[in-house]
Amino acid sequence: MITLRNADSQFPGRLTANGGVELVVFRSSWYYCPMKSFRKELWFNIPTRRAFVNITSQIQDCLKESGVAEGLVLVNAMHITASVFINDDDPGLHHDYEVWLEKLAPHEPVSAYHHNHGEDNADAHLKRQIMGREVVVAITEGKLDLGPWEQIFYGEFDGRRKKRALVKIIGE
Ligand code: ZN
Repeated sequence: MITLRNADSQFPGRLTANGGVELVVFRSSWYYCPMKSFRKELWFNIPTRRAFVNITSQIQDCLKESGVAEGLVLVNAMHITASVFINDDDPGLHHDYEVWLEKLAPHEPVSAYHHNHGEDNADAHLKRQIMGREVVVAITEGKLDLGPWEQIFYGEFDGRRKKRALVKIIGE
């Protein structure tokens, strides 16, 4: 028989009452705690060109579904004109982002961008770059280990079509 035991056990193996050998598998062994892995795509079809969507509750639902209690969750946009980022769920801040991003990379004139040969989303690529592709959040005791005001957002910069974000959860 194989007995799973904490690493503070004194004996690596011993005879059992029925004459068999009991092997002790230490806690640090990789096969003692097989890692769980979970993958899901979140789909969006934002009716406007730009928007910020709070997806924290959707990530919490994914975490519940995964059954992972200790680990990490990665959330990334699967498009090069959208972001996933963490910040405050405050409409004033989101307005400030909009103004700031438009100053950095105004949508118009679209002809000002070399990328806009046959498309008009060069500004969306630049906005996505500065707002980030992904976030990684620790999972502790089955919960997202976020700071008090931290919320997870999908940032759309070239909407009006179906797009998605990837949720990958690993842990035990
Ligand atoms: Zn493009």
